[in-house]
Amino acid sequence: MNNCRNIALIAHDNCKKDLLEWVSWNSRILIQNRLICTGTTGRLIQEKLAALGELPENCVLCMKSGPLGGDMQIGALIAENGIDLMIFFWDPMHPQPHDSDVKALLRIASVYNVPVAQNRATADLIISSVLLDKNYRPAAGAFAGYAERELATVV
Ligand code: PGA
Repeated sequence: MNNCRNIALIAHDNCKKDLLEWVSWNSRILIQNRLICTGTTGRLIQEKLAALGELPENCVLCMKSGPLGGDMQIGALIAENGIDLMIFFWDPMHPQPHDSDVKALLRIASVYNVPVAQNRATADLIISSVLLDKNYRPAAGAFAGYAERELATVV
């Protein structure tokens, strides 16, 4: 992967082991990018990359922990076109205190046409995509024209 991208990495507690394993497998590719993580996930990823001897300075940016607003911070970055792809292993078996934030994050990623992996198989397919090596930028989302819609059609 030659083009440095902003990759969001998030995992709920029951999925953190899975994500850390995936990060280990793909560390060589991941460290060529900026990794923007929710708090606990990010700290674990820093620890893992450091243990592998592969933690470049400023590679991992930790936002707040998910339940304390980290998902919303990443969502805000998406709305500013600051995230190129998102790996988000959310837990389908347990409700979270911040379920509404999780839903909002997945929604805003959809609005901005951000590629999202919600499980390891999809993450594998995304990270091995030939398009990552090219200067590929997804088209603006289907809702890109929303802000410019005709005011007369609103009221
Ligand atoms: P965490 O947050 O990385 O701080 O655990 C993840 C989340 O629950 O969104």
